[in-house]
Order: sequence, then C-alpha cells, then structure tokens
Amino acid sequence: MNDYFYYQDNQFYAEQVPLTEIAAQFGTPCYVYSRAALTDGFRQFSEALQSREHLICCAVKANSNLAILNVFARLGAGFDIVSGGELQRVLAAGGDARQVVFSGVGKSIAEICMALEAGILCFNVESEAELDRLNEVAGSIGKIAPVSLRVNPDVDAKTHPYISTGLKQNKFGVPYDKAVSLYKRARDLPYLRITGIDCHIGSQLTETSPFIAAAEKILALVDELAAAGIRLEHIDLGGGLGIRYNDETPPAISDYVTALLGTLRERSEKLILEPGRVLVGNAGVLLTRVEYLKHGEEKNFAIVDAAMNDLMRPALYDAFHEILPVDRQPSPQSSPASGRGGERERHSSIYEIVGPICETGDFIGHNRNLSITPQSLLAVLSAGAYGMSMSSNYNTRPRAAEVMVDGNAVHLIRERETVQQLYAGEKIIL
Ligand SMILES: *Cc1c(COP(=O)(O)O)cnc(C)c1O
Repeated sequence: MNDYFYYQDNQFYAEQVPLTEIAAQFGTPCYVYSRAALTDGFRQFSEALQSREHLICCAVKANSNLAILNVFARLGAGFDIVSGGELQRVLAAGGDARQVVFSGVGKSIAEICMALEAGILCFNVESEAELDRLNEVAGSIGKIAPVSLRVNPDVDAKTHPYISTGLKQNKFGVPYDKAVSLYKRARDLPYLRITGIDCHIGSQLTETSPFIAAAEKILALVDELAAAGIRLEHIDLGGGLGIRYNDETPPAISDYVTALLGTLRERSEKLILEPGRVLVGNAGVLLTRVEYLKHGEEKNFAIVDAAMNDLMRPALYDAFHEILPVDRQPSPQSSPASGRGGERERHSSIYEIVGPICETGDFIGHNRNLSITPQSLLAVLSAGAYGMSMSSNYNTRPRAAEVMVDGNAVHLIRERETVQQLYAGEKIIL
C-alpha cells in the first residue's frame, strides 16, 4: 500500500476510486494503474537529476502499454527498448525516437534498420559481432549508427540469478577487459559514431553498493578511453533499482540518484538512466476474483480468476506479491439464528492463492491468511512491472483488461482480449 493504493472505510482504493467499482465495470482479472503514482516516480528521478544534464529512459519492457508510455513521454521521458516492437510502441505512444536507447543481445537486421530509419539516440551494443552487423547495415542504407558499448562490469547485483545481468557468466554486454579495444575497433568502422557507454547489472537491486561499484568501473573506462582520444557524450548507468514487494528496504529514488551523482563528480557527460520496475511496479495492482474455495486435507485453496498467464513472476521467480482483500469489512457474526450462511459466509483461513491453469506452478501466493468468500475480490499488489508485459495466452486465456485511474476518473487503456483474437491468425489445413 502507498499513497495511491490504500484502504478507506475498509474498501481498497486506487486514487479516488474503489476497486469494487472497477471490477463491476470492467470485470476481472484486470490490471489497475495509478497515473499519479507513475507521475510521482518519474518526478522523483527528474528532481534528483535536475542539477545535471540527463535523460531518463524508461525501460519499456517493464510495462509497455501505450497509455503508460504516453504518460512518461509527456513528462519528457526517453525510452530503453529491447526490440523493434518496443520501438513501434514508443512511437505509437508519442515518444521521441531521438530519446530512445536500444539494448539487447540479439538485434536483428530488420530491427537495426527500423531503429536507424527512426533516428534513435543510440544502440547499446552487446558484442563485437553486433558492432560489425551495425556497421554493415548502416552502410547499406546510408546511415551512421550512434553507438554505446554495454560493458559488463562483473559486479554481483545480489539479486535473483534470473535477473542478474552484470556478471562475467551472463550473456549481456562486452567483457570489461575487452571494452577499450572494442571502442578502438568501433572508431575505425566507417558507419559508426561512438556516443557513449552503458551498463545494466540486474534488476530488483535493494542496495546501492553494487550500482556504485559498477559506476566506478565504468568511469575508470571512460578515463581510459579519453586518454586514448575517445570522448563520450553520455554515460548510461542502466536501471535495476528495486521496489518493496514484501519486506525489502530498497534505497529511495533520490538516495540512489544522489549516490550515483557522487561517483560522477565534475564530469560533463550527459547521464542516462534506464529505470523500469521502480517507475511502474508499485503503480499497478492486479484485481482478481475468487472463483472457488477448496478446503483440502492439507491445504486450503482460493482459486482465483487470475493465473500465471496474467502474472508470471510467482511461477517464474518464486516472487512474492502481497495479496489483500478489496473489502476487508469484518464479516457479520454468523449465528444459528441467521440460518444458512451459505456461500457468502467468510472463511478465515490460510490459503494457497492459485489460478485455474493446469500447472502446479500456477500460483499467485502461498500461505496467505485471508478472510474471504467465494466471489471475494482480491488485489495483488506491486503488479505494475513485469506483470502484463510478461503475460501470455497459455490455456487460451485472453489477456486481462488494463485500466488507468486518474483522480476520480477511470480509463480503459487496454480492452480485455477475446478468444477470437487469440486464434485469428490460425488456419486449418485442407
Ligand atoms: C530490463 C532492463 C532495464 C530495466 O530494469 P529494471 O530492473 O526494471 O529497472 C534497464 N536496462 C536494460 C538494458 C534492461 O534490460
């Protein structure tokens, strides 16, 4: 819970709108975002960075809904993309191609062409082979590709191994020891223009020290490059700042930025950051309804209408999301006189919160103490990042609707998918 998602009179709200109203109007499962929360996160970055030239490139993969990208674009954001599809989303959302950095280890020729035609700020190059491909493609269409090398600083981000990216054994970036020679090589390639350097060491980091360690190593390289006559226009220190899901205590945005600025001291290069999760994670919840309560011999299950296809993080990373009842009114005392309490009676118990998908890994939360009925609405918190953007159609489940709350207004920002949309491209053979 935060300033934007909270209880009032035992009803859970997003800004000024009770979630029960959203469920009644748009159905469940449904992602609910707070525009004010999105704006607030972005402003914290821009205020902390105001003393120096900077660009905040929101990581599109954390949440790529056009309305969300548009909120950030209007605040002056740039974007960090990892595919041609994300570039198209940024452009469709009103983002500026000249503020786009393109990361990722597997950029295709078609994606490189599209990004060159659009005129992006730079390619965050992740290998020597990519440098060559970029040079060739740019030459073939008469363009010069702006290049930053993503350097792997070999720093332990101390996060989940699946979202740790800055260690030698990871697939990301170019090795630290090879960086200078690769820059020299890039300098000699005719269709490249060196503009910067970047790193991104992982996601959901809850301490500042690995960021600082990585920054120091990158800055040492910047000096080495300068000594070799290679001057950079920008330094991009990536994203990765964590959020509170459960009992984590990540640094505040301002403290994190201040710590980074401390490492940069008098340098004049523009600072780029690529935050994702921290901007959107706690700006969204997943609203779901209990379908069945199943009281087993060893465990009690609350089977809800959201599943691993809607929110994959628990199944993928064993991630924790807080789950709260949308209506937490104490249930009226059931007495024999009140007759058959029937289905509506609340069952206070320890539940496994699971979805309808045919996988044991399909859970949203383990061992949650909840007082609920079949039909209760639940809010799965901290679902704004890597929720909808990682969703799938497994079990032919149409993707959830998405809405954005803005004060007392609710806007549908993505319609619930239909099953017809899911198989529209499929053909039965004769
Ligand atoms: C995913 C990613 C980000 C954003 O990471 P968060 O942990 O969501 O802040 C930034 N940069 C790159 C290159 C990424 O791959």
